[in-house]
Amino acid sequence: MPPRATPRVLADLPLSPAIADMLKDSVELLPWDWAQSPKCEGEAISAIYTYGHPTVDAVLLDRLPGVRVVSNFGVGVDHIDVAAATKRGIPVGNTPGILDGATADMAFTLLLATGRRLAEGDRYARGPSFLRYDPSYLLGREIHGTTLGIFGMGRIGSQVAKRALGFNMTVLYHNRQRKPDAEQKLGVTYASKDELLAQSDYVVLTVPLTAETRHLIGRAELARMKPTSILINVARGPVVDTDALTEALTRRTICAAGLDVTDPEPLPRDHPLLQLDNVTITPHLGSATEQTRLRMAQMSIENLVAGLAGKPLPYQVSGR
Ligand code: NAP
Repeated sequence: MPPRATPRVLADLPLSPAIADMLKDSVELLPWDWAQSPKCEGEAISAIYTYGHPTVDAVLLDRLPGVRVVSNFGVGVDHIDVAAATKRGIPVGNTPGILDGATADMAFTLLLATGRRLAEGDRYARGPSFLRYDPSYLLGREIHGTTLGIFGMGRIGSQVAKRALGFNMTVLYHNRQRKPDAEQKLGVTYASKDELLAQSDYVVLTVPLTAETRHLIGRAELARMKPTSILINVARGPVVDTDALTEALTRRTICAAGLDVTDPEPLPRDHPLLQLDNVTITPHLGSATEQTRLRMAQMSIENLVAGLAGKPLPYQVSGR
């Protein structure tokens, strides 16, 4: 089939108005469920654009044999079967590097907010009970001078470590491979998973979601943490076993958690985790700044345009 003048792109609409505007003259956007409709001629769809986290698997790719590129708005690609795409000769693009600062800022925002009980304090300060200052209420945990453990000393993890140095924290990290350059430049110390869990006052998760990292933090890992420790997840919800976390927070075998991501996401509105005071939750806001989201839009569109033109993607996920 000859290529159409205006390529058709399957996307989980609605996109942000800024992205829709950037794309309006160059592609025709089709809604996600188009791929399931009887009207869908698979060959006529030239690309897939993933904005939220819709699943792109082998079944979808086989239904759309005309797809030349999958472009993702974001760095995490756990919702895309990259191996299946690679096997079919389809490159997958993402947006690494430009959201590290914003996501590390969010990790630190949650760390500070959870340690110093910001959300509880805000609720109390607005509520009917706050009629007199009382030095004994809402005591939090110190941040400066404590020990931070980072699972995933990659792009985002390194930025979290940099921020921690300003708070005079000792930083431990755990990766599958040691990072001598990070150890030298940032003064961070490699630790085994167990050492990191046992010694850290704050444990921050910045690993990708893979088969290996699913439930990286489960019952056994939470049991290794100190009762005064705080868990921060800015990676992906399923990196933590939600039931085990709910139990640990309810029984206070760990002190608190700050979660930018959950499993499932969103949590059911009546989920017990949402009833707990020792959890601070944000709705997946890691990279959500005006500046970073604009750069993500530009990068994801650069990938889309390059893939449609049959050129190498500027930011391609490794298919290995
Ligand atoms: P990255 O640069 O690839 O860093 C990931 C780090 O995780 C690497 O240092 C890697 O080291 C380590 N790692 C991977 N598998 C591991 C395992 N099984 N055990 C221990 N460490 C492991 O990735 P990034 O750009 O920092 O992004 C990380 C993740 O953050 C993304 O995949 C995404 O899911 C999430 N994210 C969330 C938000 C948000 O809005 N909350 C925003 C952006 C990104 P080794 O390979 O040596 O193990």
